[in-house]
Amino acid sequence: AQSHYYFYDSSIKDLIHEKHVLEMLLKQANANQDFFLVFQPQYEIDGKKLIGFEALLRWNHPDRGFISPAQFIPVAEETGLIIPLGEWVLKEAFRNIREINETYETHYRISINVSPVQLQSQKFMDTLLDRMRAEKISPSWIDLEVTEGAAFRQGHSVEAFFDHLRELGINASLDDFGTGYSSLSYIKRYDIDRLKIARELINGIHEEDSAKEIVRAIILMAKGLHLTIIAEGVEEEAQLSLLQSMGCHEIQGYLWSKPVPRHELEEKVIKPSL
Ligand code: C2E
Ligand code: CA
Ligand code: CA
Repeated sequence: AQSHYYFYDSSIKDLIHEKHVLEMLLKQANANQDFFLVFQPQYEIDGKKLIGFEALLRWNHPDRGFISPAQFIPVAEETGLIIPLGEWVLKEAFRNIREINETYETHYRISINVSPVQLQSQKFMDTLLDRMRAEKISPSWIDLEVTEGAAFRQGHSVEAFFDHLRELGINASLDDFGTGYSSLSYIKRYDIDRLKIARELINGIHEEDSAKEIVRAIILMAKGLHLTIIAEGVEEEAQLSLLQSMGCHEIQGYLWSKPVPRHELEEKVIKPSL
């Protein structure tokens, strides 16, 4: 038992140490050099009609190589560094979708992950509007993917934020539905257009009855609330056909494409679909 405790102790220390290191590296990072966006296509349920792309952040550290967003986003949130980093993501995502839609004369949508920490900041709406105007993009091209987050402060300001998005014509999706991060009370409270069913649930739908029935129920409920439903993490044909039979509207996942850099998105995803 003794050695077990020692082990536990040192692994906690490692975790804390790793967090400090990440925090330091994040503070030193130069967004324009070390960060870039990759894009993953989203399709209508037929799996053919392209509707837009989710922008996902990548960090290529000069010495450490690639660091996963699952590792550094939580640190960026805790330290507040997500605010400047999130602004950089907005700017880059807007620039990319403008260039793409101008080049191909399309109306693709860009889905941008927004941390609850950003949403709570009073300045976020102003930043969003400034960026939108500076990049001259249509509000209908924007979709914000939000989660409830663990320490979400409930309140009128968040309600007003979603109402304001609706007035502007900007879309909002509740991300990771079916995990601890997003719940039913959120949809009831806030004016949201789309529900994204979490990969963790989609994973098992073709193998486990429970996952299948939960997803079926989520889709029924979301339809009753007039929400659009997108499934993420679709990897298998069997998952796709189930989702089709359940009346899901949109899909995203490795079955079509991994998140890819801009040039690859154009060559392998956009051009073949035109
Ligand atoms: P998320 O928003 O749930 O994004 C989906 C994640 O699933 C992405 O991981 C994506 O690469 C991965 N994925 C997509 N399709 C499949 C599939 O078919 N199978 C499997 N196994 N995985 C799939 P990624 O890019 O590592 O991002 C992890 C998380 O980091 C994201 O989860 C999101 O919460 C966060 N994140 C990424 N970029 C940003 C950002 O710009 N801002 C914020 N606030 N968070 C971000
Ligand atoms: Ca997302
Ligand atoms: Ca997810």
